[in-house]
Amino acid sequence: MTALFWFRKDLRLTDNPALLQAAHSHKTIMPLYILDEDMPLGEAQKWWLYHSLKALSNSLKETYGVPLLLRKGNPLTILSSLIKETKAQGLYWNTCYEPALYTRDIKIKSHFKAETFNGSLFFEPITLKNSQGTFFKVFTPFYKACVEKLPPMNPKEKPHSLGDPSHLKSDSLEDWHLLPKNPDWASAFGNHWTPGESGAHKALQAFLKTGLEHYGVNRDFPGPKTTSQLSPHLHFGEISPQKSLYEVDHSPASSTDRHKFRSELFWREFSYHLLFHFPELPHKNFNSKFDKFPWTYNVSLFKAWSKGQTGYPLVDAGMRQLWQTGWMHNRVRMVAASFLTKDLLIDWKQGAKWFYDTLVDADVASNFASWQWVAGCGADAAPYFRVFNPLLQSQKFDPKGDYIRTWVPELKNLPDKFIHAPWLAPEDALKKAHITLGHTYPHPLVDHAKARTLALHLYETL
Ligand code: FAD
Repeated sequence: MTALFWFRKDLRLTDNPALLQAAHSHKTIMPLYILDEDMPLGEAQKWWLYHSLKALSNSLKETYGVPLLLRKGNPLTILSSLIKETKAQGLYWNTCYEPALYTRDIKIKSHFKAETFNGSLFFEPITLKNSQGTFFKVFTPFYKACVEKLPPMNPKEKPHSLGDPSHLKSDSLEDWHLLPKNPDWASAFGNHWTPGESGAHKALQAFLKTGLEHYGVNRDFPGPKTTSQLSPHLHFGEISPQKSLYEVDHSPASSTDRHKFRSELFWREFSYHLLFHFPELPHKNFNSKFDKFPWTYNVSLFKAWSKGQTGYPLVDAGMRQLWQTGWMHNRVRMVAASFLTKDLLIDWKQGAKWFYDTLVDADVASNFASWQWVAGCGADAAPYFRVFNPLLQSQKFDPKGDYIRTWVPELKNLPDKFIHAPWLAPEDALKKAHITLGHTYPHPLVDHAKARTLALHLYETL
């Protein structure tokens, strides 16, 4: 009565529907993770995956005395040989809804009888339809439909036992070379994150204690911990969205704040449903009118943007936060993405690729849907004429410049009124702050007002 349990984007023991059912139906469960090299990961994600697998392996050992079996290669081949070797009578997993994984799994299911569950979304994408019988392309009606159908959250505990599976030879996690070396650009990530299920629960508890109250307002300010920072934990399935929502719903915070958080979880859901129904989302404009947009590609402009050297402090702060921590605050993601696409006229796909490689929460659904949203070509996108003004955004959402000073320390001595636009500061203020524009901090790459006019003109010609 052995069953294989295949961990994928559900690296947790609690509220894991497929694991719970496997443990309920079989005496012995063999937990397995397969590194499928045909499904490429971003570089920052590899760092997270390494630590998350380590945490999962430790909790399997501590909780059940059971090891996590690691294998690298083609999942169909690996599963075939493991099923033969262990004489397993069951195979369980939670569905991944990213099209490449979904298609791969359908093929695997044609070989074995697998029992699969939804462990990452509130609704299976095929179950939600709009009044025309197709998928939702606008967030508000999508959200309304979800809220109407949403059952009470009922997160489950972890299984009591996984039995005593035979110990097969496992790959060594170290041999997968997931961590960067020479240089170790992720060396500071560990100061910001604790990958793994217990790190996810700690992050949620910290948010409930200090972040949820006033979340509706504070979430727009990129200061310390104004949002939950659950995104990488949710991405790797270290916590379920149901459990996150359950805890938030049962907190004493105001209903405005609780509902705002719920709607953000549903932006994630919306992105997954869009991707499921429009699998070309990562590389094709959702609105095909944009196919003719005359993007430019200037290597040095792209490099300046990616390194946080645009001369616009808020954009630079965000891009450096991303590089140093693998994460960026949502508002700054919007400003930085708008700057790349509308001020520098660089194709959103280039920016999305950079984010995909550098974000620890890099997600095929949320990343590409959000880039298309900012560029104006996505489903329910920001209208094309919405061009984020990096100066006004900075003055409004980082009024004292604390966020800028954290990530762009060479500007830290500038008075608040000049920190958003050093090029407007008088010579003596720059001198006092030890800043030489073009030397210690760049001149702005473009004049935002002129860049905006040009972008609008190009958009209008579409
Ligand atoms: P909170 O504000 O605490 O929100 C809770 C959860 O809701 C998040 O963890 C996330 O799962 C979800 N969420 C919140 N906002 C959004 C949103 N706008 N779209 C989708 N889900 C959301 N999010 C990713 O998870 N992965 C990505 O690769 C990603 N790329 C993005 C790229 C761009 C250009 C932009 C503008 C946004 C992107 N987002 C992405 C969405 C959003 O920025 C992050 O989810 C959010 O910043 C994560 O921080 P948090 O966990 O503190 O969010």
